[in-house]
Amino acid sequence: MQTITWNQQVVKRNNKSLVLQMIMEKEPVSRADIAQITGLNKATVSSLVSELLEEDFVYESGPGESSGGRRPVLLHFNKTAGFAVGIDIGVNYILSVLTDLKGNIIIEKNQAVEDVSFTSVFQLATSMVRSLLKEMPGSRYGAVGIGIGVPGIVDKAGTVLLAPNLGWKNISLKQAFEEEFHLPVIIENEANSGAYGEKQFGAGQTYEDIIYISAGIGIGAGIILKGELFQGKNGYSGEMGHMIIEADGKKCSCGSRGCWEVYASEHALLSMSQKEKLSLETLISRAEKQDPEAIELFKKVGVYLGIGINNIINTFNPEQIIIGNRLARAKKWLEQPISDTIQSHTLPFHQKEVKLHFSKLSSYSAALGVSAFAVEDFIRTGIISA
Ligand SMILES: [Zn+2]
Repeated sequence: MQTITWNQQVVKRNNKSLVLQMIMEKEPVSRADIAQITGLNKATVSSLVSELLEEDFVYESGPGESSGGRRPVLLHFNKTAGFAVGIDIGVNYILSVLTDLKGNIIIEKNQAVEDVSFTSVFQLATSMVRSLLKEMPGSRYGAVGIGIGVPGIVDKAGTVLLAPNLGWKNISLKQAFEEEFHLPVIIENEANSGAYGEKQFGAGQTYEDIIYISAGIGIGAGIILKGELFQGKNGYSGEMGHMIIEADGKKCSCGSRGCWEVYASEHALLSMSQKEKLSLETLISRAEKQDPEAIELFKKVGVYLGIGINNIINTFNPEQIIIGNRLARAKKWLEQPISDTIQSHTLPFHQKEVKLHFSKLSSYSAALGVSAFAVEDFIRTGIISA
């Protein structure tokens, strides 16, 4: 019996993954086109495609267009071969979605959160996942994984080292969810997740160098360079909410003073207001009714957002800045003060060609980003049985 060596197995796994990626991106596509694009020979492509058909990852459809000769059979990605769960743990909400393998939302659950202790959030999030799994349509692979976005510093083992706005420290979140559901779990910082969601499905699809600003109760940033998420050596990059924009400024939840998020976040917006018990939603509806105080508050926060964004543009020279998370809902009042601040502060070379956009997926950026991570992990590791 012929045995396949470890090396051959790796090569085969990579090739199969590559073929599937091609089908996902270019569908409908023929075997000949895949061979041409990937540089693999036709026999290899044919045999890998047969396996993918057998495993229900792809399906065929009738002959496509041809420039003469026999018309080829076209291949499609079977986006409902399985489903992924994406959870965005916010400071005052939990959003969970069940998506197909192409990031289309099948079911969503949204819950306001008051008690942010780990025990309470874990209980709520796991019960949301349980009900998503219960309502999940039947498929060959069922749930392929769970992705979770968290507003904090996450290490590569899936431990939340610190989430100041939740009051969490050293929480083994990946382990806790894996023990509960026996599924692969990926934990990522919510700004990185949002950046990835927008890159894959939203405002960043045609850009390569993107800084995504997650402006919620706190502020985080997700950095996409050359089309890839930049995580830093240990995965801690993007904590720009704690860059200091005011020496000896107001106290921050991280223990320092004068951090950007103390001036430019949703929390900052609400604490600047003189009136008690205001929410972002009420401020938006007041601004809609031309309330001068509400409009002035958004303007102030917009200027502060612009100051931080100025520092980021000068540092990274990105193609695109995307403002996401809850404050993106106030685009109407934030956009002008942000772009005015950039125009009057940012180095002229750096201002050239940079686009300021607001998130396209609104509150779904992070949830869709983590579900995409779960799908990719499944495609990378789960598709070969050889
Ligand atoms: Zn801080």
